[in-house]
This record gives sequence, C-alpha cells and structure tokens, in this order.
Amino acid sequence: CGIVGYVGPKEVVPVILEGLRRLEYRGYDSAGIAVGCKGQGKLSVRRAPGKLKNMEEVLRERPISGCYGIGHTRWATHGRPTEENAHPHRDCTGSIVVVHNGIVENYLELKRELIAQGHTFVTETDTEVIAHLIEQVTADAQNTDKTLSLEAAVRKAVKRLTGAFALGVLSAREPDTIIAARQGPPVVIGRGEGESFIASDVPGILHHTRNIVFLNDGDMARLTPEGVTFTDFDGQPITRKVQHITWDP
Ligand code: GLU
Repeated sequence: CGIVGYVGPKEVVPVILEGLRRLEYRGYDSAGIAVGCKGQGKLSVRRAPGKLKNMEEVLRERPISGCYGIGHTRWATHGRPTEENAHPHRDCTGSIVVVHNGIVENYLELKRELIAQGHTFVTETDTEVIAHLIEQVTADAQNTDKTLSLEAAVRKAVKRLTGAFALGVLSAREPDTIIAARQGPPVVIGRGEGESFIASDVPGILHHTRNIVFLNDGDMARLTPEGVTFTDFDGQPITRKVQHITWDP
C-alpha cells in the first residue's frame, strides 16, 4: 500500500517512519522496514501487525539504524495481516529485501518452480516470490561465472511477473542503492542534495524535496545518493523529466 525509501546522509529510520506516517491516509493493516549500511554486509528488518505505532514500539525495543532503507505499510491481498506476512520480504539468504504494492498474479506457479529449485518460503504472500526470484536469477548467473548487478537481477525477475507491482528492492551486497520498478501502482522518485527518495505517492517525500519524477509503467529506476538513472524493462536508458511540485498535500 505505502512505500517510502531513502538513500543519503540522514539517519534513514526517522525519514522512512515520517514518510509512512504521511501516507497513512491510504489505510493499511501492518508495517515494516529494512535498513542497511556499507560495511555491515547485512540488512536489518523490523515488522509489526497493526498501526505504525506497533512497529515504532518494536523499533524502540530493538533499535536499528542505517544509511539506506525502505519501509512499507501493507494492505493484505494474499495472506493474513501478521508480522510474518508484513513486508519487507526476504530471500533465503536474507541479503535481498523487497517491498511491493499490488498483486503478483502468477505467484503460485513461480512459487512451485522456486520450491523445486530448493527455496524455502516462510510467508503466505504473493510478494515473497519476488525476493526468491531475484535470488535465483543472481545464482543462475553466478553458476555461469557472471555477476549480475541488483538492477539486472530485478529486471530479469520482473519480466517473469504477471499482475501489478510497484517495487522497492535492496541488497546487502549493493549498499547505498535502491532499485524501483513499476507496472501499475504508482511510484515517485525524489531528488535532493546528495540524497534520493522513493515513495508510492508524493506526500511521502514532499517535505524533503519538491523535485519529483513520476515513473511510467514499464520503468525501472536505480537510486543512489549521487543520483537516479532510469531504464525500461529491457535495460534501455530512458529520460524522465524532473517536475518541480508547487502544491501541498
Ligand atoms: N499483495 C501484497 C500482499 O498482500 C501487497 C499488498 C499491498 O499492496 O500492500 O502482501
């Protein structure tokens, strides 16, 4: 339902929490966040069913901090609104996390295929297949001595998905990077001074930057503190205009 991600010099947890709060009007049943930092080699995830204050409580008890991260408020379509089913969802290694708005229509077929390849699923969601699929395409490339960037792996994975998705993806192996993809639900990208933002809607990031790019269906974006690059699902570079938003939510 709601997505907010950040990469830059600020402490990411408060940026994401505040953004998710500003998207609360959309409604949701659970919330989660994943953050990482260069040199840590891992991503930390905290999730909770119910309102954001439940997740804030979890964060108070088990604090995390990071330099890049992504958060999500979920409106469950597949799987009950439990902590396990709350996003972000992970691959088997825990080094890839995914937040997703929408529905993966062919998830059962993909899940069957991935289980046959040795993946273990821990949630009832359609979203979890995306994390495992990214892991699998990365492993397939490694088996032929190729290294796939996170962006290339996400691109290969989204080509297998049918349905609707707004995606935000992080990898512990590629710090300070967020990969976004859109097919259906909205994705907006924000550019600041040495920082980049992603959200499912403008009010999630407008208090930080008014320089916004709206992704079109079939667009991907790679966000780093230095800037944002845009490509289509075939990997062709595209240009997307930065719009200066003058209205207030
Ligand atoms: N279909 C996904 C789920 O049920 C995403 C729901 C959403 O858009 O929040 O977890």
